[in-house]
Amino acid sequence: TIEITGVRKKFGEVDVLRGVDLSVERGEVVVLMGPSGSGKTTLVRCMNLLEEPDAGRVRICDCAFDCGGPRDRSARRLAQRARRRTGMVFQQFNLFPHMTALGNVIEGPRQVRRLPAAEAVALGERLLARVGLADKRDEYPSRLSGGQKQRVAIARALAMEPEVVLFDEPTSALDPELHAEVLDVIQELAGEGMTMVIVTHETHFAREVADRIVFMDGGVIVEEAAPDAFFTRPAQERARSFLRLVE
Ligand code: ATP
Repeated sequence: TIEITGVRKKFGEVDVLRGVDLSVERGEVVVLMGPSGSGKTTLVRCMNLLEEPDAGRVRICDCAFDCGGPRDRSARRLAQRARRRTGMVFQQFNLFPHMTALGNVIEGPRQVRRLPAAEAVALGERLLARVGLADKRDEYPSRLSGGQKQRVAIARALAMEPEVVLFDEPTSALDPELHAEVLDVIQELAGEGMTMVIVTHETHFAREVADRIVFMDGGVIVEEAAPDAFFTRPAQERARSFLRLVE
């Protein structure tokens, strides 16, 4: 579903991604782990071209994007098409504060997919029910807990019917007692076969949900393994010392 090859990204003089190759198959759940500053957020943002890599290639389904070329109209259109095939869930939710829960979920389908109002509302209600928030459809984000906001954000990502959903530390802005309600929703999506890439430090969750753990350090992928192998016998010293810190 997603294939990235030779992806590089600098911010000023800092080499944040130093040549990353990664592919994610349809239905696969990949968990991205690694120390702070290792480039995980930048990598997921490059995967849906929210951030354009300086070099390399990003393919999302049938959309292949060669990075570092001229940003002309056809490049921009291709990037936009690729981006629409992915859904993104951010640390800080990024909900529209002036829209209700339902309004947030149906904004994309209305504006981008051009769904008629009644159809978008029906879709929005279905998705809010799916994340356990049917009764919150008319609430504004300021009246929702962090866990509820994040579940609205997940419903919003699903409303675009993405091929893959990217999660960037979806629980790190939440109080610990709210983590489970968000992680449970993600786990259910995994059970339904949704393709996902998840940046998280939650090792228990990672172990349960992931088909594969990808461990990054210093802007490169250092190790990739099945969860059991990664957590019980990581091959690299850098992964071992990371796990000693987080577990
Ligand atoms: P964390 O776990 O702390 O979120 P991370 O592994 O997700 O870390 P990134 O957020 O991708 O790491 O950041 C990697 C490096 O890139 C950091 O040194 C960061 O300061 C730098 N960086 C990220 N985004 C930008 C930006 N927009 N401008 C300048 N530097 C940036």
